[in-house]
Amino acid sequence: MRKEFCEALAKAQKNHDLSREEIIVLLEAEGEELEALGRAADEVREKYLGREVHLRGIIEFSNHCRQNCLYCGLRRDNKHLRRYRMSPEEILAAARKAVELGLPTVVLQSGEDPYYSAPVVAEIIRRLKEEVGVKAITLSLGERSREDYRLWRQAGADRYLLKHETANRELFACLRPGTSWENRLRCLLWLKELGYQVGSGNMVGLPGQDLETLAEDILLLKELDVEMAGIGPFIPHPQTPLAGEAGGSLDLTLKTLAVTRLLLPLAHLPATTALGTIHPQGRRLGLCYGGNVIMPDITPLPYRRHYQIYPGKAGVDQEIETNVASIRDLIASLGRSIGRGPGHSPKWRGGVELYEMRAGQLY
Ligand code: SAH
Ligand code: SF4
Repeated sequence: MRKEFCEALAKAQKNHDLSREEIIVLLEAEGEELEALGRAADEVREKYLGREVHLRGIIEFSNHCRQNCLYCGLRRDNKHLRRYRMSPEEILAAARKAVELGLPTVVLQSGEDPYYSAPVVAEIIRRLKEEVGVKAITLSLGERSREDYRLWRQAGADRYLLKHETANRELFACLRPGTSWENRLRCLLWLKELGYQVGSGNMVGLPGQDLETLAEDILLLKELDVEMAGIGPFIPHPQTPLAGEAGGSLDLTLKTLAVTRLLLPLAHLPATTALGTIHPQGRRLGLCYGGNVIMPDITPLPYRRHYQIYPGKAGVDQEIETNVASIRDLIASLGRSIGRGPGHSPKWRGGVELYEMRAGQLY
């Protein structure tokens, strides 16, 4: 193993802090270095977060999108996609099923779809908590106004997932025409101010991205002090301008996950569906390289196949019960346990009231 690799790894394990150059050294790992990196991340996960894997049921309730991101199959210019919207009743029914299956957290995700006005979403949030008994709600609805975020937080939303996608501003502007990196960051800061547990993250293997950019991604997650980091491989979609590109590899995604775990020991890190899509063992490996969250897809079957952000999504035709059962088996086979309770960020442990108070001041 390279001397500089061993030094950077030891420093990361001890201080959870590295320079951009040191992160790059870790991201260059191959062979036994890659294994050592995985082991170190797994140890940090075990030490700070224990053996629990938290399950979050994701409901992809609309595939309409006003944005035109070059990487995504839901982009507005994709005319081949059959678009759908779930009604509030359908969303509540899907969440009821999640609760029955023992999933305490529900994630509501969609394209950027203004059809769902802020009060309509707020009402869904309220009913999910009051009528369905969902313990925690994560939203992932893209960029909206501060007022919308405030209303939803007040209605009972606990977390928000808004990936920064790439820390490279020029690449961001090129991949997300008509939007800006600055606004994405502004949204993330609003969400923090409003007392959400905030998730961000990036794709791995985007065209034009290099190890330096990935190092910047990880440093940005650290600077934002996120409660959650969604990191998955970019998977080219045939009906997008990036159809012919290469896509992110398993190894580079695992390395990015592992280094993120080393630098953000308390963050929730999902083993993403995208990772499970590029490799049959992707989710298992994600859990072994620092991951501690899985988000089973609980979108009703007739809709799920049309939420085609990328092609070949793992488990797209699988019944929800089968999907959740195989995830439970996977977790048990690793000697890990299913997280109990809402699975709030450990950074909030004992501090929930404080964060409610802080958020309260802003209302
Ligand atoms: N519209 C919202 C949420 C839905 S998109 C938003 O953009 O934030 C959810 C995530 O899918 C994005 O954050 C992006 O990281 C990921 N994604 C989009 N296209 C992808 C692709 N081709 N491969 C892998 N992940 C992709
Ligand atoms: Fe829309 Fe999100 Fe896809 Fe961009 S990534 S096109 S905002 S769904």
